[in-house]
Amino acid sequence: MNAELPHVVIVGCGFGGLEATKVLDGAPVRVTLIDRSNHHLFQPLLYQVATAGLSAPSIASPIRHMRRHQRNLTVLMAEVAAIDKAQRLVELGDGQQIPYDYLIVAAGATHSYFGNDHWQTHAPGLKTLADAFKLRARLLSAFEKAETLADQPARESWLTFVVIGGGPTGVEMAGTLAEIARHTLRDEFRRIDPSRAQVLLVEGSDRILAAFKPEQSAQAQAQLERIGVTVRVNCRVVGIDETGVDLQLPGGGRERIESHTKVWAAGVAASPLARTLDVPLDRAGRVIVDEHMNIPGHTEVYVVGDMAAAHSQEKDGSRKPVPGVSPGAKQAGRHAARQILARMQGRSEAAFRYQDYGSLATIGRKAAVADLGSIQFSGFSAWLFWLFVHVYFLIGFRNRLRVFVDWAWAYFTFQRHARIVVEPQHHGDQDEA
Ligand SMILES: Cc1cc2nc3c(=O)[nH]c(=O)nc-3n(C[C@H](O)[C@H](O)[C@H](O)COP(=O)(O)OP(=O)(O)OC[C@H]3O[C@@H](n4cnc5c(N)ncnc54)[C@H](O)[C@@H]3O)c2cc1C
Repeated sequence: MNAELPHVVIVGCGFGGLEATKVLDGAPVRVTLIDRSNHHLFQPLLYQVATAGLSAPSIASPIRHMRRHQRNLTVLMAEVAAIDKAQRLVELGDGQQIPYDYLIVAAGATHSYFGNDHWQTHAPGLKTLADAFKLRARLLSAFEKAETLADQPARESWLTFVVIGGGPTGVEMAGTLAEIARHTLRDEFRRIDPSRAQVLLVEGSDRILAAFKPEQSAQAQAQLERIGVTVRVNCRVVGIDETGVDLQLPGGGRERIESHTKVWAAGVAASPLARTLDVPLDRAGRVIVDEHMNIPGHTEVYVVGDMAAAHSQEKDGSRKPVPGVSPGAKQAGRHAARQILARMQGRSEAAFRYQDYGSLATIGRKAAVADLGSIQFSGFSAWLFWLFVHVYFLIGFRNRLRVFVDWAWAYFTFQRHARIVVEPQHHGDQDEA
């Protein structure tokens, strides 16, 4: 590769970083893509791995393989520890320094426990494949543990699952858990009845799926209740420990729910890498960027995706926040890369405009809600739409085919094939795919 060419470093190969990398394919630049994992992950289907519906290779692809034909690209699997914008250096966890001419930071987000980080051990969240393996082991092992116990209250606490946070991930997790209990595990246990498991979805505000219209929130709640999920809105979680969750109720009272298995789907915060840029951040720790995803005073540094608090320049002159979803990250990643190429030619792209294609959330088998701006629908048609959209956006034909076959199998048999856990321990991490 020609060492004279400008060097673009991209941190993170999620949705934002991957799209930026693609735009730079064949351009007169050297590109170095750094990610701490060796794969690109399709996060929207991560809950399917956590609930044993899909195996990891169906939703993750090796970065090196995906981009093997991009001649101007070098892929490094490494943790980025800090960014020195004054010296134009990316610092790796092992102390190495990588100089750049242009930098695109797309390191995504992490869980936020709102200052209660000790809750994380008892209520893990879902962001990475490692998180999904851990959750899958906990969920399936809880039924196993209950089967071993003779004491009824103890059994019940192992058969009570609490999902905290009524956004799309919480709704998907709760709905799927209820289906596992009622259908997948039917006839498999002798001492417990898995269908008597309780799945609670706890939400602090007055409705689930707050990003959707209120009627759709109500439809989603009704669909969840139909498949056996208990939805608790206006309940704030004030404590989580190994054996349960403490709630603050709307009237101010408290309630304790005994449960060994909790899932955190309530809060996200930007990657801690944002802090090392030493620029203004919003309350979620996201970097406040301008209309080209640049940080103040540095037109060579771009921050995109879940790490950025970005705005869309609307036709009427107003500015709308870009939502923290995959289309937002993809479009911003493409914009940053195009702006780098434009700047190299002494031009500038028009200010970033987010193209909103709508929102989708699935609730379970044959149940979903869709808001496509001009039309809203729910139920079976929304579920079919959700299914095709998610298969379509998966990376690679092989993955699409695999997911399609797995889902068709699950649809007709109610089975979930990825149920192998290595050790029957509740709080053990699982490293298997
Ligand atoms: C469970 C779940 C379900 C979701 N469902 C949907 C959905 O249905 N629809 C939708 O549109 N959006 C959904 N989202 C949101 C969507 O996935 C994100 O908005 C999107 O992934 C953001 O893209 P990104 O490029 O900013 O970050 P990410 O895709 O998170 O990528 C960040 C990358 O950076 C790497 N990285 C992080 N820190 C470092 C570091 N220090 N050094 C090196 N590499 C690093 C990570 O390994 C990762 O590959 C979901 C998210 C989750 C977690």
